[in-house]
Amino acid sequence: MSAEEVRAFAASLIDQVARLSTDNRLKQFKIDQLTHEMAILKRWKFGGRSEQLAGEQKTLFDETLDADLAAIEVELDALRGAPAAEVTKEQPKRMPLPASLPRREIRHEPESTTCGCGCAMKRIGEDVAEKLDYTPGMFSVERHIRGKWVCAKCETLIQAPVPAAVIDKGIPTAGLLAQVLVSKYADHAPLYRQEQMLARAGVAIPRSTLGEWVGVCGVRLHPLVEALRETMLERTVLHADETPVAMLAPGKGKTHKAYIWSYGTTQFDPIKAVVYEFAEGRAGSHAKAFLDGWCGTLVCDDYSGYKALFKDGDVIEAGCMAHARRKFHELWANHKSALAGEALKLFRALYDVEREAQDHDAEHRVRLRKSKSRLIADTLHEWLTLHRQKATDGTAMAKAIDYSLKRWAALTRFLTDGAVPIDNNWIENRIRPIALGRSNWLFAGSLRGGQRAAAVMSLIQSARLNGHDPYAYLRNVLERLPTQPNNRIDELLPHRWAPLGSTT
Ligand SMILES: [Zn+2]
Repeated sequence: MSAEEVRAFAASLIDQVARLSTDNRLKQFKIDQLTHEMAILKRWKFGGRSEQLAGEQKTLFDETLDADLAAIEVELDALRGAPAAEVTKEQPKRMPLPASLPRREIRHEPESTTCGCGCAMKRIGEDVAEKLDYTPGMFSVERHIRGKWVCAKCETLIQAPVPAAVIDKGIPTAGLLAQVLVSKYADHAPLYRQEQMLARAGVAIPRSTLGEWVGVCGVRLHPLVEALRETMLERTVLHADETPVAMLAPGKGKTHKAYIWSYGTTQFDPIKAVVYEFAEGRAGSHAKAFLDGWCGTLVCDDYSGYKALFKDGDVIEAGCMAHARRKFHELWANHKSALAGEALKLFRALYDVEREAQDHDAEHRVRLRKSKSRLIADTLHEWLTLHRQKATDGTAMAKAIDYSLKRWAALTRFLTDGAVPIDNNWIENRIRPIALGRSNWLFAGSLRGGQRAAAVMSLIQSARLNGHDPYAYLRNVLERLPTQPNNRIDELLPHRWAPLGSTT
C-alpha cells in the first residue's frame, strides 16, 4: 500500500464511522421518541384516564391504546434489532382451544432425515402448536406438528423451523387476523363486539389481545401501504379529496376535528388504487407532504389548501365540473329557476360526451372532447359571461356563475388531456365507505390509531377497486408478508396481487 492509498483508506474508515454514528444517533432518537410515547400511553392505560369516558367511548379508547402499545413495541424491537422484549416478557398462558372445533393437522418435518454423519435419523417426538383459524362462517384449529429427529450415533437433533408468521407467538392464523381487520375496518365492528362473537364460538380471546393483534398487523402492513403510495406517485393524473372526522383527543375527553385525506388514481388509469391519510388538520401542508416531488395533474375541489401545490408549476390543477354543475342544480331544484335550467342543459351535454368517451382510450377520448365538448364548453362560457352581466351581485345566480367563471381554466382541463376526468366524483365515491363508519372513526383515539385505520382502509378499499374480496386479499398478504423479500413487496399490492401461495 502506498502512502496515498493508506491515507485514502483511513479517510474512508473515518467516513464510515461518522455515517454509522449518525445512523445510531437517528436510531437512538427514534427509540427515545417511541419510549416516551409508550410511557404516556401506559400512564393513560393504567392511570385510569379512560375512566372519564363513558360506555362505548371508553371501550373504543381502550382498544386503541392496546393496539398502539403493541405497535410501538414491534417498532422498538425492529429498531433494537432483536426481539428482546419477547424473550424476557412473560408469555401469557395459552388457553386450550375448544375440543369441539374441527382440526386440521399440518406437519413440518426436516427436508432430509439423513444425518451429516451418514446415519438415518429417528423420530423421537414432536412439538405441537395450535392456531385458531377463521374462514368466513367457520372457526377451525390448525395443529402444527413439528417432528423431532435424532441421530443415534452422534446425537445430532434436528427439527423443521417454526414457519414465519405475522404474529409469531400467539394463536391467530393469517385468516383470523384478516377477519379481525376486515370486521374492524370494513364492517366497523369494534373489538369488544368481536370478543363477544368469538366467545359465542367458544373461544375466549380478551379484547386487549385483539387490540394487540390489530396494532402489530398495522405495523407489518405499513411497508405495503408505503409501496402503494409510491406506485401512486408514478401516475400522472390523481384525484385528491379530504373529509372531516371527529377524533377523540386522548386525555381531554372531548372530540376535535381531524381529516381523512384521500388520493386516488382515476377511473381511466389501468392501476386502481386509493390511499387514505389521517391528519389532525386540514392544512395544505398535508397534501404537499404526501405529493412531495410529484409532477402531474391533480383533480380536486376548490379548497384553498391545494393552491400552494400549483404555485411552482409541477402540479397542474384540474377542477370538478360536478361541483360547478351542482350550484345550478340547487337553483333549479329549489327555486325552479328556468335560467339555471338553461345552464344545466349545457352541463348535461358535456356529460353526454363523457359517457360516450369513457369506454375509449385517452387519445380517442381527447379527440371526442375536442370535436364535441369544446364547442359546448365555449357556449357555456359565453352563456355564463352574458348572464353574469345581467345578474345582481350577491344573488345565488351570481354566485353560481362566479364559481364556474373563476375556475374556468381548471374546470376545462379535461378538454386538452384525455387522461383527465371531467370531475372529482370518482374519489368522492371512494370516500363513502369511510362516511359509513364515521361513528367508529369518532373514536380513532390517537393520531397513531387514525393513521393505522387509514393504512388498513387503503389496502381494503384498493383491494375492492381491483375486484378482490378484502378478506381473501388480506389473509393471503398476511400469510406471505413474513417471507416476502422487501424488493418484491410490490407483488402484494392490490393491483398486482394474484392469490398465489394461498392455503385457502
Ligand atoms: Zn449423526
